[in-house]
Amino acid sequence: MKITMLGTGNALVTKYYNTCYVLDDAGRTILVDGGGGNGLLRQLELAGYRWEDMREIIVTHRHIDHLLGIIWMMRMICEFMNEGTYLGEANIYAHDEVIALLRELAGKLLKKKENRFVDDRLHLVEVHDGETREISGQKVTFFDIGSTKAKQYGYCLDLGDGKRLTCCGDEPCGEPGRKYAAGSTWLLHEAFCLDGQAEIYHPYEKHHSTVKDAAELGAKLGVENLLLYHTEDGTYGERKKLYLAEGKQYFSGSLYVPDDLETVTLT
Ligand SMILES: [Zn+2]
Repeated sequence: MKITMLGTGNALVTKYYNTCYVLDDAGRTILVDGGGGNGLLRQLELAGYRWEDMREIIVTHRHIDHLLGIIWMMRMICEFMNEGTYLGEANIYAHDEVIALLRELAGKLLKKKENRFVDDRLHLVEVHDGETREISGQKVTFFDIGSTKAKQYGYCLDLGDGKRLTCCGDEPCGEPGRKYAAGSTWLLHEAFCLDGQAEIYHPYEKHHSTVKDAAELGAKLGVENLLLYHTEDGTYGERKKLYLAEGKQYFSGSLYVPDDLETVTLT
């Protein structure tokens, strides 16, 4: 299993794409979130993926830096279904609010001849807190992270042999997510900025963490590998070096600060 980051930035960046990624187990893929627009299609292409192959999609929440790229995926899928060149089906998994919003947006934004494929061959699949589904051959358990901003689901993916990958979405892993995150082999966690730059980026007002916070949490939860994403872009070019230096002071496991389009093997 490997993860390719299509984007690693927060909602306000211009130098990175918004945080979203592809999980890939020998060609069986899951796309998680879509970023803020059709840049998703470009990022997929640059990462060596065909958008047509992203048939299993998870959306964590309705913020536009995660959701609007999904509208583009829906448009592409439905348009090419209509033309007869996209065969088979596709699934989008999310909680009730996201599913309702995607259905409404598709109804309002897509052409009628395209929208007819929504809920026919493009399935909008509502998932619930604690529910486990098999997606692209993986056992994925969704959980409500308990966000006070917008309802958000993280997930825990069974990597086999007792190994787990937990994604807490784009907020600090709170109490509801900790039972999944604790002892995870991999934790995907947001880190808005460096601890020393909290005065500049105000992570706490936005319900985000510093690198130090995320690293301390990773240590407390006993995770083996911590991957940080959803960051500012003021440290563009230096981010990996600076974030690793700060994070390693507080987390002794393996720490990753991938750039856009970087692939990490989830061993
Ligand atoms: Zn976000």
